[in-house]
Amino acid sequence: MSEYGNQRTIAAISTPEAPGGIAVLRLSGEDAFSIGQRCFRSSSGKAIGDMAGYTCAYGTFLDANGADLDNGIVTVFRAPHSYTGENVVEFSCHGGLYITRCLLESLLHAGADAAQPGEFTQRAFLAGKMTLTQAEAVMDVIGATGERELRFAHAEQRGALFQRVQKIKDQMVHCLGDLAAWADYPEEEIPAVTPEQLKTLLKAVEKALKDTLSTYHYGKILQSGVSAVIVGKPNVGKSTLFNLLSGCQRSIVTDIAGTTRDIVEERVQLGDVTLRLWDTAGLRETSDAIEKIGVELAQNCLQNADLILAVFDGSMPLELTDFDILKQLPQKPMIAIVNKSDQKMQFSSADLAEHCNFSQILTMSAKCGDGLELLQNAIEQLFYNDNIAPESGIVSNTRQKKCIEEALQQIRLALDALEQGKMLDGVTILIEEGLEAILTLTGERVSETVVDDVFSRFCVGK
Ligand code: GDP
Repeated sequence: MSEYGNQRTIAAISTPEAPGGIAVLRLSGEDAFSIGQRCFRSSSGKAIGDMAGYTCAYGTFLDANGADLDNGIVTVFRAPHSYTGENVVEFSCHGGLYITRCLLESLLHAGADAAQPGEFTQRAFLAGKMTLTQAEAVMDVIGATGERELRFAHAEQRGALFQRVQKIKDQMVHCLGDLAAWADYPEEEIPAVTPEQLKTLLKAVEKALKDTLSTYHYGKILQSGVSAVIVGKPNVGKSTLFNLLSGCQRSIVTDIAGTTRDIVEERVQLGDVTLRLWDTAGLRETSDAIEKIGVELAQNCLQNADLILAVFDGSMPLELTDFDILKQLPQKPMIAIVNKSDQKMQFSSADLAEHCNFSQILTMSAKCGDGLELLQNAIEQLFYNDNIAPESGIVSNTRQKKCIEEALQQIRLALDALEQGKMLDGVTILIEEGLEAILTLTGERVSETVVDDVFSRFCVGK
């Protein structure tokens, strides 16, 4: 509790905790100006509290003992015209670890509380500056790994998903309105809704929810990349490929079969493609205990992966054992990589295609680094869908997905109930439950626990 109001004034370092040219500390809350003033002496002599919004002042930052610490700029934002909707002061100092730590200490000593992860954005949400899905998009903007991801994150920030589900919400409210009219005036000839009409309306809601849910597959890929597992029999060049992609010698490369024993995960940027690559111990029966664990882990990875990269040694004739591995694989997109193209090739892509239905087949040399762009193109074609417009609104995290799933389930139950000729008030309750899930998604009606959970995944200072 602050001395003037009931909302704590919070402070945090908003830039990464690493040496840099400049660093920014942020202070937000009712007492931001008075607390800020205790840690800053402007060169002009003007007090922070007398500065107009969106203006800066140059001066000296003071440490917790009031001694000169560093020089730099403060920027003032006046409520409600700030990110949080509160009074905000931003301190731009030299980006040294010692300076930023001392300045934060000074702000805390002057009366601020240390901000929790995401607390600035949480306040913006609570002040009605953004919906919950827009707030989540802030982290997507920060986490964007490429141009495409950033375009989608910005669209979400502008409210693309919110607007999409808003339309679905309106349809649900429309159904509820019809049901209420029917319940209130059952004897009236109009405007009572017939179960058939209601069914048509609910089917449209069901379709809209299903379509929205189907965007999650793409949303997940934009968020965290394509998870891929490299499989193949020993010595075909799996580790070499993994090292080529990750650009470092992380997994052990040897000529002895079965030396890659555990799963190594690496986030790899291949042009515009983000890969989460799992290097596994190869899939085969083994009596070696440690390796067996590796094989089990590999099976797990396979179940969860988006993509399988099946590596073959093109310098050796194809054998039946090359395909044993493939028989154990779950059904999912699979790219065949015929490796060692720097050597004389013993079989062609067509020979491979005869044995198995691959999404794509390409030839490359993991050792020489030839053919990487073929792999990038293949993955782009399989997973990145440029026909989906960012403005259409996509589901980008599991919380949003669960809300849509819940709404969809309730609408399906409502449809079943109608089918079975159940009482319309029972149908009403089910649609209301569905609506509740949508309101949780947008944050229009959401529990404190959900809000806390969403923002706990943010970084401190955002
Ligand atoms: P893994 O058992 O499938 O992981 O295979 P490794 O990556 O350990 O490679 C086995 C052997 O094949 C090593 O000697 C690698 O140097 C070699 N190798 C891997 N890729 C290529 C390639 O593209 N060309 C050639 N000539 N040799 C390769």
